[in-house]
Amino acid sequence: MREGHLEETLRRIIAQALVDRVKDPRIAFVTINEVRLSRDKTSAQIFYTVLGSDEERRKSMQGLRSSAGFLQSIIGDSLRLKTIPRLHFRYDDSLDRSFRLEEILDDLHSGPEGEAERSEEMRFIPYPPPPDLVEVFREHHSFRLTTHVNPDADGIGSLLGLGLALEAAGKTVQMVRHEDGPSAFSVLPGYDRAVLPGELQGEDEVLVLLDCHELERIGPAADGLTGREKVVVIDHHLTGDGDSEGEVQWIEPAAAASASMVHSLVGAMEELSLSGEVASCLYAGLITDTGGFRFSNTDATTLHVGGDLVEHGADAAALAESFLHRRSPATLRLLARVLDSFDYRLGGKVVLARMTRAMCEETGGRMEDTEGFVNFATSAEGVELVALLKEVDEQTWRVSLRANDPYDVQRVAETFGGGGHAKAAGCTLQGPVEEVEERILEALSRELQMETAEG
Ligand code: AMP
Ligand code: MN
Ligand code: MN
Repeated sequence: MREGHLEETLRRIIAQALVDRVKDPRIAFVTINEVRLSRDKTSAQIFYTVLGSDEERRKSMQGLRSSAGFLQSIIGDSLRLKTIPRLHFRYDDSLDRSFRLEEILDDLHSGPEGEAERSEEMRFIPYPPPPDLVEVFREHHSFRLTTHVNPDADGIGSLLGLGLALEAAGKTVQMVRHEDGPSAFSVLPGYDRAVLPGELQGEDEVLVLLDCHELERIGPAADGLTGREKVVVIDHHLTGDGDSEGEVQWIEPAAAASASMVHSLVGAMEELSLSGEVASCLYAGLITDTGGFRFSNTDATTLHVGGDLVEHGADAAALAESFLHRRSPATLRLLARVLDSFDYRLGGKVVLARMTRAMCEETGGRMEDTEGFVNFATSAEGVELVALLKEVDEQTWRVSLRANDPYDVQRVAETFGGGGHAKAAGCTLQGPVEEVEERILEALSRELQMETAEG
């Protein structure tokens, strides 16, 4: 079945089932507008609208989420599919947005006295956040912001950017960093005020996961939670088979970085402002996740968001220097060792590379400062897939996976309990290094064959 056709079929099945089969008064005023399938067809975003008040909107969201499993089983019964997609409901505010445009046009006609208001209204919001998420930030006062373990600049930049914006609006915020981040983090505003998980104080009303959607991925930052916190997810990773956490989830795989989503969230809340400091944190996240606007996640919107951040005070050259270019001599010695480890396999289409603790000790390089090393392997002619194994301890290897078009390493990572994006993903494997390498190589070889067979 063609993808567009399948999406429309799914839309009709779901809309019909809501009328005929799901007996839930909360979804009475729901209209299903559009279904968008992920590339691998394992997850679907269902865009819907609701006639009625904010309260009715909130209830329909709960009703839809609680019927997702039932709807999936109806889809399974109605269509012969290899996998039944997991359903993610997203409030479709394109209608709200067109109303907003009308307001802006009205303002334009209302003359010079509307000037100040108008500049507020002209905020650039390419990824409108779900209304229930905005509501959580409005209604609550204390927030604990976290990101995934082994944080990258997108995780930490999104966290600091949102944290500083909320603080400026009078909210109480605890920003949790992880030990041993990349050295470049120290240039980010607010990083010196972020605390280690052990330094957290008291309870917070809301726990926010940035750039990840599973509590296991925030490691020790989850310690000491009471379970009473409201959990909010802001992430651009595809949801795999693992259950995502959070009562309020905002997952936007089309966004190049979580920082782009935070940029839209700040834009959507009039009480938050995009200060130069906030913009700098977000810009650092955006440039690292796009490799300096070079990876395939770079589209026109990515560049527009970058432009908006620079317009609001992010120093493009200085941040690129800190996050993409400058390395210590020790880090470069470590790079030489990693480059030297490249092992070309499967007719030169796959590179296996290694970074051991011994290499770090011998060169003085830190594993945290090796962002981008793995990309050197994708630049080698003829190479399609790359795995860089980083030694955590003798029996534990963190694997960074990369793919060139049309290959997909997210599905490879997922088979090992990891995740990420189609072109950049990761997972952690246990065992001696030779064994880990063979398992990874076997999975990559299957990915090569699958794509060859499909294409
Ligand atoms: P890295 O190779 O560490 O740069 O990670 C590439 C991408 O995969 C990033 O978006 C990570 O957040 C994601 N990722 C890495 N390791 C894991 C994991 N164990 N589970 C889920 N996602 C991961
Ligand atoms: Mn990340
Ligand atoms: Mn990210």
